[in-house]
Amino acid sequence: MTSDNKTPKPRRAVLQAAGLAALAPIAIRPAKAQDKLQGSMVMYQDKPKDGQKCGGCLHFQPPNACAIVAGNISPEGWCAVWAAKP
Ligand code: SF4
Repeated sequence: MTSDNKTPKPRRAVLQAAGLAALAPIAIRPAKAQDKLQGSMVMYQDKPKDGQKCGGCLHFQPPNACAIVAGNISPEGWCAVWAAKP
């Protein structure tokens, strides 16, 4: 068995990078339905509020979904975590 101290540094760096890369899909995976917030938790409503609506929100996923709120999301809806598209 080889010791880690005898592994050439470039190879060790590649192996360490590969280990971190293996975690990346976990960290950046999209939210699954069970991970999303319920509309009632964020005061979701199916109409705009003060000129803000899902269609103009950073989290909206056309045609009728949201990255962080579960369920059928209307582009005309709104919730408390609305954030403007950049
Ligand atoms: S306002 Fe944004 S975060 Fe809230 S339900 Fe609509 S798209 Fe999702």
